Amino acid sequence: MQMPESSARILADKAKIVARLRKILPEESVIDNPVETKAYECDALAAYRCPPLAVVLPASTDETAAVLKACFEMGVPVVPRGAGTSLAGGALPTADSIILGVAKLTDVLEIDYDNRFIRVEAGRTNLSVTGAVETNGFFYAPDPSSQLACAIAGNIAMNSGGAHCLKYGVTTNNLLGVTMVTMEGEILEIGGAHLDSAGYDLLGLICGSEGQLGVVTEATLRILAKPEGARPVLIGFDSNVVAGACVSDIIRAGVLPVAIEFMDRPVIRAAENFTHAGYPDVEALLIIEVEGSEAEIKEQLDTIIKIARKHNPVELRESGSPEESATIWKGRKAAFGAMGQINDYMCLDGTIPVSQLPKVLRRITELSEQYGLDVGNVFHAGDGNMHPLILYDANKPGDLEKCEDMGADILKLCVEVGGCLTGEHGVGVEKRELMHVQYNEADLDIQMAVKDVFDPEWLLNPAKVFPLDASAERRA
Ligand SMILES: Cc1cc2nc3c(=O)[nH]c(=O)nc-3n(C[C@H](O)[C@H](O)[C@H](O)COP(=O)(O)OP(=O)(O)OC[C@H]3O[C@@H](n4cnc5c(N)ncnc54)[C@H](O)[C@@H]3O)c2cc1C
Repeated sequence: MQMPESSARILADKAKIVARLRKILPEESVIDNPVETKAYECDALAAYRCPPLAVVLPASTDETAAVLKACFEMGVPVVPRGAGTSLAGGALPTADSIILGVAKLTDVLEIDYDNRFIRVEAGRTNLSVTGAVETNGFFYAPDPSSQLACAIAGNIAMNSGGAHCLKYGVTTNNLLGVTMVTMEGEILEIGGAHLDSAGYDLLGLICGSEGQLGVVTEATLRILAKPEGARPVLIGFDSNVVAGACVSDIIRAGVLPVAIEFMDRPVIRAAENFTHAGYPDVEALLIIEVEGSEAEIKEQLDTIIKIARKHNPVELRESGSPEESATIWKGRKAAFGAMGQINDYMCLDGTIPVSQLPKVLRRITELSEQYGLDVGNVFHAGDGNMHPLILYDANKPGDLEKCEDMGADILKLCVEVGGCLTGEHGVGVEKRELMHVQYNEADLDIQMAVKDVFDPEWLLNPAKVFPLDASAERRA
């Protein structure tokens, strides 16, 4: 993975740049000591690292605007950062860029149960949004597995999803409005506490824009009343391909579970060792959750179980209590962390039509043999959003490059079968060069023209999303 060469002018001017930032923010909100900036050298795609020039932590929208205006005037690139859990390298800095972290922006600003929305500062963690409303029987639906740590800001930038997004949609379907600051320091209000706005869907454009159009400082989010009840069923199979076929049949039957999650044997074993969730030692495991009244739950589960039985499951366990449900989910939610305990891995994020699951799973196994790298699969199967985890050894020369090549082949396969390069993690630096596979030159040019409007100097997170050759002229 290549990053553009750093600007010698900016590196030489570091002291001047930091001094100007210190005139805007309190002393403790500007970090330029190399020991401390090291903490910001990567996100969760830890294979790539580079400490930034400095880090700023504004505590309000106005401070954010003042910082951005100063950086614009000094011609210094800015990389917005939420909690740094991006798996695509979205928050990876360059040596000549400032990291603008929103970690100090965590307040709840307004809760309106009658109109079902909450307004929060964008650095607030995903899980604590639900935390703010759950005692009143409400929740915020998008639930990335990283929800304990990741910030709403990052969720908006990556249009994040999660296990329960099969029914509730991803961030864009639950976002009503944002306060966003442009690179020039202008404060924009986009959307609001209502369902839609007149004119173009600018909010839809901002959601998923990977920190390239502006810095989001506040968000208005839809909250939903908690369902009457929910129940997962755990179904084990002795073949990945058969489990994939079962998912495809459930979706085709028109049932809409709230989640269909898939794990294969390497991930099941790691999750079981880590959480002792009581998972069976099978080739593939589905966790399917439905919700509603007792009658609705029963009706949906009856249909799902009938379909699953046609695929000869080796294990079929319906949760009998809220405690059992929590245990079933515990292993899945901890799966990424559990895998990280035993191996270096790269987590991919391609999306495919659900009917292609059996074919793609078969091909991933072949690629694994061809490259000599093991793969664990854990993903949101109901959405066709795949997360193959390619295991490699970061200390073995050449292994990372091999892993990158294999990842590229898997993502190309996703495009080939009618899917796309990303489901919820974004493009970042990880899939940047593969954008050529999905889009032709004209497509890329139109997308980059949107960035030209919001950030004409290409100073906001400039080396992400678009292939370096395609964006070279604009970045220069
Ligand atoms: C263990 C694990 C499990 C995960 N599971 C899921 C999952 O189930 N679903 C899912 O979708 N993702 C998942 N992720 C990926 C990641 O958590 C999401 O992409 C998340 O939304 C990133 O949020 P963050 O606050 O950490 O953002 P960061 O990593 O800090 O940044 C991500 C992107 O957002 C931009 N950004 C940050 N703040 C702002 C801002 N204020 N304004 C504008 N742009 C900004 C950054 O520039 C960057 O491009 C997982 C990650 C891990 C490590």
